[in-house]
Amino acid sequence: MLATLRRFVTAESPSLEKAAADRCCGVIAEEWSKHGGRVECIAQKHRGDLLRLTHAPSKSRPSGQLLILGHYDTVYSTGTLAKMPFRVKGGTAYGPGTFDMKAGIVQALFALHALQQTETPLRKRLVFLWTSDEEVGSEASRKLLEAEARRSDAVFVLEPSFGPRGLLKTARKGVGEAKLIVHGRASHTGLAPQEGINAIHELARQLARIEGWNDFRRGVTINAGLIEGGTRTNVIPERARAVLDLRALRVSDMRNLERRLQALRPFHRGARLEITGGFDRPPLERKMSAALFARAQSIAKQMNLSLGECAVGGGSDGNFTAALGVPTLDGLGAVGDGAHSLREHVLIGAMPARAALLAALLSTA
Ligand SMILES: [Zn+2]
Repeated sequence: MLATLRRFVTAESPSLEKAAADRCCGVIAEEWSKHGGRVECIAQKHRGDLLRLTHAPSKSRPSGQLLILGHYDTVYSTGTLAKMPFRVKGGTAYGPGTFDMKAGIVQALFALHALQQTETPLRKRLVFLWTSDEEVGSEASRKLLEAEARRSDAVFVLEPSFGPRGLLKTARKGVGEAKLIVHGRASHTGLAPQEGINAIHELARQLARIEGWNDFRRGVTINAGLIEGGTRTNVIPERARAVLDLRALRVSDMRNLERRLQALRPFHRGARLEITGGFDRPPLERKMSAALFARAQSIAKQMNLSLGECAVGGGSDGNFTAALGVPTLDGLGAVGDGAHSLREHVLIGAMPARAALLAALLSTA
């Protein structure tokens, strides 16, 4: 598993560099083709090609489909390996994309390998889909992954687990971005202050109102992460803008937040508000993963493994599949830490058990 991980990680695959990503896609495809099944590189114009691997039951007709989902793109640009090489120290493997989420792809490959070696009969068709743009919003791959999810009875997402105990992610917040733009009226601060409508002042009041919508207990957050406006101090600014990060654990809270944003009215009667954007990824609600998690837990118990769960604030492609009403279990990938940072790593010793857990899930689903 470690040798395969090394091959995947040393093929750098930044989301925004198609040529490099395509090479990585080829490396993963080559590894997969050793295990039979149908290997398809689905060509993309601007992003790395998508990789779909299909394994059907050999004897019977498939009684459904299971989707095993993940992404091979990383947030690291080409050349990162020079300052952050793939290296093994003790029981830990370091390198860009080890944890998020190439070790997850390795685990899925070895889960398949284990099923084949033990001649475990498949009841359902297995579709492994490795995408290339999850780290940049999944715009190119979303259609295909949603189409595969619709055909599936369950989706297993090989995104990293959480924390040193490798908790599965049974709930994920929905995530969005909105822009709040205030249009005021410019004027000279000395000659005609009464004629101006200060867009910055209006924006500040709106943000103070919006701040009150945060509800940490319910998992609702709204964060103004960026503001701009004005030109110079002796000009009453005619325009100001804030970019907001929106998150919610429940679909109803997501809708509510969007409604409230659209319903904002200016404090100053002469000002005008413009609101764009909203949620990109709906929440992955726990009820969409509860049954799958219970099964994973009972399998883990038989393996003498303790398996916990958690809710996280970040989204993944599992948010899309769960929103379609397809049971989705996320965080089945590697155990480790430091995603998107120089210290990104996985615990090597946890990889075989996680692969075995996935194999058992796939053979009993
Ligand atoms: Zn990821």
